Amino acid sequence: MPIYSYSRVNTYFTCPAQFQFRYIEKRPSPVAEGVELFLGSRFHETMEFLYHQIPKRVPTVNELMEFFKNHWENHWKQALQKQKDRNFNETLRIVNQSQAIEDYYQKGQLFVENYFHQYHPFDQDETVGIEQRVTFDLDAKGQYKMQGFIDRLGRDDEGTLWIHDYKTSSRKLSEEDVKNEDQLALYQIGLAQSPQFGTKEKIKLIWHFVAFEKDQVVSERNPKELGWLKEKYISKIETIEKAKSYSTKPGILCQWCEYLSVCSDGKGWVANKKKKSDAKATIEPFPTPVAIKSLSPSSVSPAFAEKPVTEAAIVSASPKVEEAVNPKRRKSPFRYVSPDQLSLFTIGR
Ligand code: SF4
Repeated sequence: MPIYSYSRVNTYFTCPAQFQFRYIEKRPSPVAEGVELFLGSRFHETMEFLYHQIPKRVPTVNELMEFFKNHWENHWKQALQKQKDRNFNETLRIVNQSQAIEDYYQKGQLFVENYFHQYHPFDQDETVGIEQRVTFDLDAKGQYKMQGFIDRLGRDDEGTLWIHDYKTSSRKLSEEDVKNEDQLALYQIGLAQSPQFGTKEKIKLIWHFVAFEKDQVVSERNPKELGWLKEKYISKIETIEKAKSYSTKPGILCQWCEYLSVCSDGKGWVANKKKKSDAKATIEPFPTPVAIKSLSPSSVSPAFAEKPVTEAAIVSASPKVEEAVNPKRRKSPFRYVSPDQLSLFTIGR
């Protein structure tokens, strides 16, 4: 039986066919890397750099932003090379067509800058692990094994261990939502089994939704809940191990699936969804948000009224994303999109 990870288990329950392509057939992705994943990786690298530097010297915000910029550029060049070698249509895959690569780059800059201002001088806890690998058993016999990587592990003045996780998505989970998030709680099981930490540690779980000004959401798990979690994942792994076939499970996530081009069910679902949204746009060319509907026609901005609002635009203009615009950042003197940078973005697009 393989060692399972949180994502390996959950890929199966999201779509068994995707699980088959990725983990059984190990098919290389037929399309370029998604821009969201690319941005998330650059942000994680920047955090790694930051917390490796801190014991020696706290970097300045300029140094941190420079690090992000250099890593973005280097990985962009690698993505260009991959596009050439593998004949991809694009350098990075963008699903949300209302956004361009430079928008994601600028979002990344804002995330880094906001994180810096929020936590500087970074003395909330002392880092005891970065990209810390945890391996653990779900059962007493050691038949069901899992592993994972903790973005950062910190210990505060009271001795509590904090499992930190960075999320760059534009959706923030509430405290209620994270009670049902298993990934960090599984890592807690891993730490309890580690000789370095053990069962006596007091552990807290902290998610950083870095697209938001107040990024953190904290949660805890008690021993009973951890016991249930082990049972839940043993049962999930048993289901996967017993699987004889891997059916498709088309849905909204097909749009981001790297195997969409080779999956007829997924393609059908996406085409159908597009047809429905096109039809809706024909019936109601200017889908109007509820708040605007209550205003008199004369108070609606002509610019808004003239612009057809796509679903993507509504998502990107959601209050949560708006909340992510930090006034400090608006005033920031840092503007890292040089002409060179912009030319990098346009090559191959
Ligand atoms: S495109 Fe959709 S249905 Fe097909 S493998 Fe991907 S997620 Fe599954």
